[in-house]
Amino acid sequence: MPRTTPAASDLPDVPVVELLVRLASGSLTAVELAEAHLERIAQLDDSLGAFLLVDRDGALRAAQDIDRRRRNGRPVGMLAGLPVALKDVVCTRGLPTTCASRMLERFVPPYDAYVVERLRAADAVVLGKVNMDEFAMGSSTENSAFRPTRNPWNREHSPGGSSGGSAAAVAARFAPLAIGSDTGGSIRQPAAFCGVVGLKPTYGRVSRYGLVAFASSLDQIGPLARDVKSTALLLESIAGHDPRDSTSLDADVPPYSRNCEEPVRGLRIGFARAHFGDGLDGDVESAVRRALDVYRSQGAQLVEIELPHAKYAVAAYYLIAPSEASSNLARFDGVHYGHRAERFENLVDMFAATRGEALGDEVKRRIMLGTYALSAGYYDAYYLKALKVRRLIRQDFDRALERVDAIASPVAPRPAFRLGELVNDPLAMYLEDLYTLSANLAGLPGISIPAGFSSAGLPIGLQLLAPPLEEERLLRVARMHERETDWHERRPEL
Ligand code: GLN
Repeated sequence: MPRTTPAASDLPDVPVVELLVRLASGSLTAVELAEAHLERIAQLDDSLGAFLLVDRDGALRAAQDIDRRRRNGRPVGMLAGLPVALKDVVCTRGLPTTCASRMLERFVPPYDAYVVERLRAADAVVLGKVNMDEFAMGSSTENSAFRPTRNPWNREHSPGGSSGGSAAAVAARFAPLAIGSDTGGSIRQPAAFCGVVGLKPTYGRVSRYGLVAFASSLDQIGPLARDVKSTALLLESIAGHDPRDSTSLDADVPPYSRNCEEPVRGLRIGFARAHFGDGLDGDVESAVRRALDVYRSQGAQLVEIELPHAKYAVAAYYLIAPSEASSNLARFDGVHYGHRAERFENLVDMFAATRGEALGDEVKRRIMLGTYALSAGYYDAYYLKALKVRRLIRQDFDRALERVDAIASPVAPRPAFRLGELVNDPLAMYLEDLYTLSANLAGLPGISIPAGFSSAGLPIGLQLLAPPLEEERLLRVARMHERETDWHERRPEL
């Protein structure tokens, strides 16, 4: 389709591949591109609340430097000039990193997270830090201590969470690329709710150095973008081995963004009856079935698989994640980082007052749940049992993935729920995560791609899962669906 040169205000709509061509040819500068996005954020973000901090000066400085180097024929990185939004859970040197918590409201890290180092080395332009559920605990971004984020498709609805700011920023064209983190679905579910692509890499594929820890055995950082290829590009630029994260895998990083164009021959897609049970919204079910048909029409074989332990994922996750959280968050004690209460009687009282006033309800709930599950007398019955279930879930996937190349499922049981609808019912909120938690428990890569809209006009995602370190396959399979559909080209009217 021929495109005419758009006005600056249309730049945020231009696909990443085309932006890269224009930037490389010099017909577009990094400064122009950054300014167009900063302008859009300034005009529209008040009504969405995606950004917690916009680093206008830093972004323009980085963009000027890239333009200068390019003009002088000096080398630039693979993302040169592309704006990126960072979830406020990754440390940024000199820029506040709050985790959307009062506890870290004034915390300014002295170093960059590994992913931030890599993004800067790739010459991405960091626009700022985006909203999230406090310490990434939640599925709606309503647990942010500062404000909720709204869904760009309907402001009465949640953008999902915990990376709701990242997904909303990409959907609203505030940034073509965003970084999120996913402990139990926090990249995939908001991507689905906002109609964008979000990928949770294999556990260990992306270094967690500089990621504020929630549940260390589950946490992964990953990319969000509007299409598969730019998701692949962002993953390519942040994946790789980092000795500062002892769980980081020492495996080659394939050229995902080039290889994703290659369809998978003889594709076998698995689907599990367990994923189409009670409580699945009709529009979501039809969208997933339609997506399966898209694969079938390309010659893929659809294979029914068994995931007998899938039904225990919510119970296992909501023991393991809070247990690890209760341990990780012990460092927020009024001494090491962040907030300290002003009034207290003695040391123990200082801890209690500090944590009491600076942590939100959901974070406290997790700390209490986790402390309980780890305490003597309960450890074997809860934490240890959950670890055993986790192993069984992994075995289910290992077996299923011997027979199929990828597994397709819903991302969430329904499209974006309303703000306020679930936030006062923690159990109902936890149950919304049933489709995404298993990938974290099993360490598998997973992606959410746009797969349709509900009758109310809200986006619906399709989840695809693949064996460990098969991100390349996952992206190729995702691209096969994207090539045949145009869901990813729709945009919300703001
Ligand atoms: N919604 C899940 C939770 O509240 C997952 C969060 C996440 O992936 N960070 O724990």
